[in-house]
Amino acid sequence: MITRRSFLAAGLGCAVLAPHGLRAQPRFTRYPFALGVASGYPQSDGVVLWTRLAPEPLAGGGMPDAPVPVAWEIAADDQFRRIVGRGSETAVPAFAHSVHVSVNGLDPSRHYWYRFRAGDATSPVGRTRTAPRTGDPAPRLRFALASCQQYEQGYYAAYRHLAADDPDLVVHVGDYIYESSWGRTHVRAHGAGEPETLVEYRNRHALYKTDDDLRAAHAAAPWIVTWDDHEVQNDYANDRSQRLDPAAAFLARRAAAYQAYYEHMPLPAWARPAGPNMQLHAQLGYGALANFLITDGRQYRSHQVCPRPGRGGSNTVRDADCPQRREPALSFFGSAQERWLEAGLAQSTARWNIVAQPTFMAQADRGGGATPEYWTDGWDGYPKARERLLRFVGERRVRNAVMLGGDVHMTAIADLKPDFDDPGSPVVASEFCGTSITSQGPSQKRTETIASRNPHVKFINGNRRGYLLFDVTDHQCRARIRAISDATDPQATVRDLSAYVVEAGRPGPQRG
Ligand code: FE
Ligand code: CA
Repeated sequence: MITRRSFLAAGLGCAVLAPHGLRAQPRFTRYPFALGVASGYPQSDGVVLWTRLAPEPLAGGGMPDAPVPVAWEIAADDQFRRIVGRGSETAVPAFAHSVHVSVNGLDPSRHYWYRFRAGDATSPVGRTRTAPRTGDPAPRLRFALASCQQYEQGYYAAYRHLAADDPDLVVHVGDYIYESSWGRTHVRAHGAGEPETLVEYRNRHALYKTDDDLRAAHAAAPWIVTWDDHEVQNDYANDRSQRLDPAAAFLARRAAAYQAYYEHMPLPAWARPAGPNMQLHAQLGYGALANFLITDGRQYRSHQVCPRPGRGGSNTVRDADCPQRREPALSFFGSAQERWLEAGLAQSTARWNIVAQPTFMAQADRGGGATPEYWTDGWDGYPKARERLLRFVGERRVRNAVMLGGDVHMTAIADLKPDFDDPGSPVVASEFCGTSITSQGPSQKRTETIASRNPHVKFINGNRRGYLLFDVTDHQCRARIRAISDATDPQATVRDLSAYVVEAGRPGPQRG
């Protein structure tokens, strides 16, 4: 670990400590805020502010093995003339000198600007926005949905356009980093193999955050986040790796990956991991208009059934070869989170109930011949758990349920029904699965097969990268499919490929 070269604290090495045992006023020879700033989890009176001190971001951070004070301030204007809060947090080596500040005492439904200071260095300015007060009418909510940003396969031009669209909130549903190198076209390199240790996962997160457009999107709006598999390892489920590593060894790797994720996201302190466990599921109100339920589809799920011989992870199976797939005991969220989600949906009084989850929910028969075939890493590997959730939504008359997803690198907009094989099964919810920011999509043949065999899928496109942009009012939830021209072009342009609307009280997306 580099200390003297990049980080010259006054009296470093001479045990000159500030009154509270902190290093006094460090002087940095390289900018310590290279990973930018972020905010998240907006409430009506507060928000989480994030940064990490990392003067050598790609080499473990470059900080000394000592706690360092980080001052923060938040203002009602971008010139910081009206400061409404300030304080100091201690950035500790055990959490890679990241800070997660929970600011309180803010006003609802307004923008704020924030920045940090450590020693003689000042961070970039971030802008955030508080939520409306619980139960208060909110005239509109604009949020963006992003996922799947394999760094080697493209630039993050999508994020530049996303920030320019000025969302009140960004929802990220996973594959924020990729542990592995794959895909046809690479425009830049990870420059390292698969991370397994804490330092290696930290370096991977830091590499992704060296992208200017990603940092700008974090600095433009508050985010809420969940992960998918690649934050740890492709296709992992609970304690099982796709390579069937011994569970204890895999859980040590998972602990490292989860901790690095926490250290690099604007998560509240309640998410701080303990060993291999980290709570990510959360409920976030947005006035009377919306209730966000953020779910975790990886940590508690049942192992995928019918894997390939000698492997964990996904497979594509036919019913005759894998009757276990329909076993009711299989759970996607784990039973405790299933109950939590049902309670959150049943008790909500919000106009829109928006569930952020990591993958595609609707049934997606992808068989090439007469027999249906299903991919077991998504909800098609857990059809009875999906049926339980969607029956609950229908029977309890959950108001305006909208499921957000990612993972499959295609835009897919669908009706959600308890039984997709029964034409009489009612539409109870609407699904919007966003395409990837950069990650390579499925073949045209694959999306055409899914479109032709699954009549509940209203729109599907796998060859355009980008994000979804939602405008939500009391009357409708409208999603624009924001497609960029070319993910390998840092100057890529954006346009609307199409738009779909859900009218309040009428589940199912319609063209509009
Ligand atoms: Fe992905
Ligand atoms: Ca995935």
